[in-house]
Amino acid sequence: MTSEGSSRRAFLGKSVAIAGGVAAGAAIGSGVARAGGTPSPTPSPAPTEPEPAISPEGTYLVTLGTAAGPAVRSPRRGYSSAVVVDGHLYVVDLGLGVVRQAVEAMLPRSELRAVFLTHLHSDHIAELPAWLLFNWGPPVDGFTQPFPIIGPAGAGLLPAGAETTIRPPTPGTMELVEHVLEGYAYDINIRVYDEARPRLDELVRAEEIALPLDAAAQSGPHGVLAPTMAPFLIYEDDRVRVLAALVEHPPVYPSYGFRFETPHGVIAFSGDTAEHPNVVELARGADVLVHEAVYLDFYRGSGTYTEEFINHLAQSHTDPEGTGRVATAAGAGHLVLSHLAGVATDDEWASAARTTFDGPVTVARDGQVFPVP
Ligand SMILES: [Zn+2]
Repeated sequence: MTSEGSSRRAFLGKSVAIAGGVAAGAAIGSGVARAGGTPSPTPSPAPTEPEPAISPEGTYLVTLGTAAGPAVRSPRRGYSSAVVVDGHLYVVDLGLGVVRQAVEAMLPRSELRAVFLTHLHSDHIAELPAWLLFNWGPPVDGFTQPFPIIGPAGAGLLPAGAETTIRPPTPGTMELVEHVLEGYAYDINIRVYDEARPRLDELVRAEEIALPLDAAAQSGPHGVLAPTMAPFLIYEDDRVRVLAALVEHPPVYPSYGFRFETPHGVIAFSGDTAEHPNVVELARGADVLVHEAVYLDFYRGSGTYTEEFINHLAQSHTDPEGTGRVATAAGAGHLVLSHLAGVATDDEWASAARTTFDGPVTVARDGQVFPVP
């Protein structure tokens, strides 16, 4: 459960000191190459053997899509991961392609228990509408009982200098879901009537992550984005506990990493972040750490990206050596690289991470299944 009420949106509307440390108005995260700068694609390698079957008992990580976005530059699908615990489904982020990937991975969509959003960059939420409308069952083989979509509250303020071109300027998860349903109201109303579907608005419940009061007081969209903090509980059922912590992904605020504690093992997700001690705490003793990664040498060597953009990547994302340092500091059992930005071979990604981490490193494929532990 999210701890509703305590500090939900507590930081909205509070006065925040403008520290001036946030880049203004840049096309952050867009990864736009200048003309002629289309990089060659990075394939998601074909598996050399069939993926392990997801059995009704046990915990599994499935890296549904492994690409950073929002540009489509490679055959890899957009970023999304699934955690399956004793046949129950939990999904982290809804990047481009997740609906098809979930079907192809034969995930138990009728047993969906919760969706978690790390942050509101479009490459993490682009298929939210399709996820709802194409998994809305019955008669579709989709979710059958109410579930929460748990994600960030609205930032409250745009980065300093950013122009409000669309209103409201900073919708959070609740407004996002509400507006998606409103935008598709005709289709939804028709299908409830014409196909006797259950009411979608009664199945989908948006919840916003409530920061602990001290973390809310210490952070903000114009100040410190991710003060050092202990992970805090955002969801719990009879099989999993999910904890969150702020991570450093300028200029996005709030941006979260997650820790899934299951009866069989622990999986941590860095979210989109620079190398950060909060990820170490999320991944403390975890069986698997799924960490984002950027291959800066690709951008530096391409001659097509601005220095400003490369600096943004360096400040908002983590190079493979950094992912290894985080995994080592956390004592994580297995480092899985996903949300890959830049073009490099699997060996280049992994060998860079292995310079700082002695344990197993996997460069995730789309649809790869990891039994945990
Ligand atoms: Zn992002």
